[in-house]
Amino acid sequence: MTRKTDLTEAIHYLKQTLPEMSKRKIATTPENYAVWYEYTIGKNLGLKAHIFDLDKKQADYTDEVNAELYAKYILCSTEQAEINKLKDSVRKIITELLENLNDEGEQLSDFSRTLQQFSAQIQDVSTSDALQEMIRELLVETRKREQATHNLQETVCSMASDIKDLRMEMERLNEEANTDSLTRVRNRRAFDIALDKAIHLSMHENTALAVILIDIDSFKQFNDQFGHSIGDKVLRYVASSLTQCVRGSDMVARVGGEEFAILLPETDYVGAMSVAENCRQKIARQPLSDSKENKKLGSLTVSAGVGSYHSRESIEDLMRRTDACLYQSKREGRNKVTGESDLEGNLSEDFTWI
Ligand code: GH3
Ligand code: MG
Ligand code: MG
Repeated sequence: MTRKTDLTEAIHYLKQTLPEMSKRKIATTPENYAVWYEYTIGKNLGLKAHIFDLDKKQADYTDEVNAELYAKYILCSTEQAEINKLKDSVRKIITELLENLNDEGEQLSDFSRTLQQFSAQIQDVSTSDALQEMIRELLVETRKREQATHNLQETVCSMASDIKDLRMEMERLNEEANTDSLTRVRNRRAFDIALDKAIHLSMHENTALAVILIDIDSFKQFNDQFGHSIGDKVLRYVASSLTQCVRGSDMVARVGGEEFAILLPETDYVGAMSVAENCRQKIARQPLSDSKENKKLGSLTVSAGVGSYHSRESIEDLMRRTDACLYQSKREGRNKVTGESDLEGNLSEDFTWI
């Protein structure tokens, strides 16, 4: 009965999902379908609001936009489901432990009652046989108790090890949620969280803070020429080159298809400009080759924009200025770093970071 209702419901939503997708010219990939099915059900208010904004702006549903919707509203909920599963396991372990401790408590009070009985009986013992019998019984009871304590100890040990496994699983999940799966550097979500924290720290402690946005030049052409899978390898190479150019306290993140951001706490504008220039040069001077195919791929360049945090401004303002710097580098011929003090013209009103 329930199954039939579920199926009828699924068909009902399916009938609505496909027209919504085709209206916006969205390809029916499994990922896009998951997003739009979720949208049609209508319970995910964040997703509804996001799509409402996109429709209002008459935005194009490009591959990037679709990928972002999928990552934000579908992948995150999968992650939530995994977290719920872990939470259930922890709850089960705690319940089991409490049951064992309650049993132990009951057994302990039984034992103490038995001891009290022995202590009362011993007054009346007058023969050595009776005393011997009593000692034997006492020994049996004590052994039973010893065994029960031993069992409890073993149960607690095995639970402690289960909890340790769960904690490791939790750490792995957390790491995964903040890591870009292709390049293994941090992802956009991790960058946003770290930037927010860094801004608070910078305001609180009055320290400098800078960000760099980096975009690979003409990467579409590179992909068209050498194929997507070599393109993916190059993205990994760029991520690792950027990581080599920064300090341990800085954070490199992949924030878009071929876009990276670097967060530089306690770094002033001049310092950040020099890091960006090092990154640009390191990538530009490295000839690329595909060792597997023994093929030369020429070299690759990146453009960068550098912004430094101005006290009390919003994340959006900082990122808008840095993005404008990046696009000035593109306009001025690519393979270039532009800092906010070189910025010309007005900032774009269309830019949205969050
Ligand atoms: P520009 O110098 O103006 O930045 O030009 P561009 O070609 O780099 O920029 P555009 O935005 O036109 O194209 C970005 C390209 O990046 C499109 C897409 O092929 C490629 N890209 C985005 N994400 C990935 C990815 O995950 N793997 C691969 N291989 N390519 C990607
Ligand atoms: Mg780009
Ligand atoms: Mg590009």
